[in-house]
Amino acid sequence: MPELPEVEVVCRELSDLIPKNKSIANWDFYRPDIRFKIPKKKLQNLCGQPITAVRRRAKYILFELREHFIVSHLGMTGSWRKELNFSVRGKHDHLSFELADGSHFIFNDPRRFGFIEVVEKGELGKRFAGLGVEPLQPETDFEKLTSIFKALKSPIKTALMNQKLIVGIGNIYASEILYASRVSPLKKASKVTREQYGLIWKNTRVILEKAISKGGSTIENYKSAMGESGGYQDEFFVYGREQELCRICHNPIKMKVMAGRSTFWCASCQK
Ligand SMILES: [Zn+2]
Repeated sequence: MPELPEVEVVCRELSDLIPKNKSIANWDFYRPDIRFKIPKKKLQNLCGQPITAVRRRAKYILFELREHFIVSHLGMTGSWRKELNFSVRGKHDHLSFELADGSHFIFNDPRRFGFIEVVEKGELGKRFAGLGVEPLQPETDFEKLTSIFKALKSPIKTALMNQKLIVGIGNIYASEILYASRVSPLKKASKVTREQYGLIWKNTRVILEKAISKGGSTIENYKSAMGESGGYQDEFFVYGREQELCRICHNPIKMKVMAGRSTFWCASCQK
């Protein structure tokens, strides 16, 4: 499932691929729903307006228009691509929009956990009211976040993946961040020291930024808007490495299912 780095890469590429002065000319819908019903009428009403920016909030892609955002979520397997001559619809292409220059932007999603919405600009705060802080924003108050985490009974890994506290970190990056911080994913969030939290937040920023610079991670089928696979999966220290040797201490990496998700860690490096 795409996490923060993969969605950020898609946003940056879409921002480059979409001409800012060409209005949306038309929409095509190839099924009534993806994860949720497609708001066809609301999307059609945006014809005649250009997309002035593409931004990310948590794991959402925000296409900015005059008074609205088109909000797109990639779910597990969603992707956007651009085609200059779009004549043959691909398997799992669910909708597309055409700009005034004839270019098409197509949403494809084999597993259909992705979705699309239209949100008025003034309503965006309310729509995203439940979301936690952005790990890469300079104004994020990590001292405050530490105090919130110190009060939690759940394991630190589960807390890191809680989108109501901090957004964009999923199973892959939670495992890698905790390894880099030498903190066991099984440790209760309340037992992690303030010093360890300092390391966790620093490694969160370092790892997410590095993953973005590598184009994200491709485990099964993630592809960016340019059709590229990520490269960060080659740099994993623990994720997907069960029984392989820790790169630091050479003990085998352990795996355990926690809250329904595979968790990877080195029991000798991470306490
Ligand atoms: Zn180790």
